[in-house]
Amino acid sequence: MKPIPFNNRYADLGENFYARITPAPVSNPALVIFNQALAEELGLADTCLASSDGAAILAGNRVPEGAAPLAMAYAGHQFGHFNPQLGDGRALLLGQIGRPDGTLADLHLKGSGRTLFSRGGDGRSALGPVLREYLVSEAMAKLGVPTTRALAAVSTGEQVARQELLPGAVITRIASSFVRVGTFEHFSSKSDLDAVTKLADYVIGHNYPDCRGAPQPYRAWFEAIIDRQAALIAQWMQLGFIHGVMNTDNMSIAGETIDYGPCAFMDHYTHDQVYSSIDHHGRYAYNNQPNIGLWNLTRLAESILPLLAETTEDAVEAAQAALGEYAGLYQGYWLNGMRAKTGLDIRLDEDKALINDLFDVMAENQADFTLTFYYLSRLAIDSTDQDESLRALFNDLGQIDHWLDQWRSRLKKENSDAEGRQARMQATNPVYIPRNHQIEAAIRAAEDQDDFTVFHDLHAVLQTPYERQPNKDVYMWPPEPDEVVQQTFCGT
Ligand code: AMP
Ligand code: MG
Repeated sequence: MKPIPFNNRYADLGENFYARITPAPVSNPALVIFNQALAEELGLADTCLASSDGAAILAGNRVPEGAAPLAMAYAGHQFGHFNPQLGDGRALLLGQIGRPDGTLADLHLKGSGRTLFSRGGDGRSALGPVLREYLVSEAMAKLGVPTTRALAAVSTGEQVARQELLPGAVITRIASSFVRVGTFEHFSSKSDLDAVTKLADYVIGHNYPDCRGAPQPYRAWFEAIIDRQAALIAQWMQLGFIHGVMNTDNMSIAGETIDYGPCAFMDHYTHDQVYSSIDHHGRYAYNNQPNIGLWNLTRLAESILPLLAETTEDAVEAAQAALGEYAGLYQGYWLNGMRAKTGLDIRLDEDKALINDLFDVMAENQADFTLTFYYLSRLAIDSTDQDESLRALFNDLGQIDHWLDQWRSRLKKENSDAEGRQARMQATNPVYIPRNHQIEAAIRAAEDQDDFTVFHDLHAVLQTPYERQPNKDVYMWPPEPDEVVQQTFCGT
């Protein structure tokens, strides 16, 4: 059996970046799921992680050779308010591993027990949120969205106390980095420029190596971060994904979707949809996500300001110039993504209005987000035969028929062939997303009946979300009225 190729560089940053920790063992670890394909990608397939001992390691009962478990320190703005003392309170970085391509991946356990940063929390996770994160993060990966990955979920054999007693679990997550915007805020709030610089150099070296050669590496790096966030949030918006807690401590510096809590995909389109039970004022509503992205990046700018120029004045100017690009970058990514979803290849000024009109019609008719675009992609080959499935999503047929007329006249300006157009549309309009009611059903069966088949079936369908699969239509449909999930919870 090969050793796990640990290469723990974060630990080198120094003791002020983390607290070393031994994971707290659990009574009866059992593997719920192991992501063999991801293990192979990471070069972990022949290691003890993938062996029968794996569950003990992935539950934190055994620390494998070469691991250097630590809880990462960070701060963050939570719902707009600065909290100087957050950090991994129920998670730990088991170690970092060298991927076959030479880059590093952080291997994190979540639910692994108390740490120096746990405050009043128990450091544990219930099974439900673990299954939810596993399903949604893996679905995001298969949908093509940058994200942390799920390597494994283990049940602990122990119970955790929330509103009620719930079965406990630990999820193993993989990220290009678990450094957050809040990690920079942590050091900046202590005026520790040395640490901010060290951390920036670390992140640039591992996650933005191209910026090293730029004339002004820190500025190039900040611009690259802005670019990745704009692209990421545009992808969320194109899929109807709502992160739910876009606090700065939940924003990855590497541009990946991170910290899946009360996240959700919307069913019928509502522009200001909120699911999270704790988001009382809609700060993290669907349509507010692009703005919050900029708000968080502005907090990052404040934290790294001294790196951007010699004088504060110049640094503020540089930061403002870079942040000023965000809206245009976001709009560009969004519009191009939406053009792909609606089969438009050439770029015309009129496209934005056409696309926004569709969203307006969807909102007025409470049309299902995912199905609208999926059925639209089936209409790419110019035929009105299949209009019925799309029309069935709308109450006011006049509105959608009018929009389809406009869309078809717009398509006449395209040079591309219809087959190619349809293939491109189908590659960006999924058939399946992890729908809230399906996730809920998977959790209910696992928690209440110890039945994981519902979870496994849903997970299997979400492996190829862009392909219609035989006998799997049940996963396409929006919830029946009695299945609608109104609220989602952090589960912490
Ligand atoms: P979140 O926004 O859910 O990612 O978590 C915010 C902060 O609360 C982080 O510092 C977490 O580590 C901490 N936290 C959440 N749940 C727990 C828990 N059960 N025990 C200890 N700390 C927790
Ligand atoms: Mg978090």
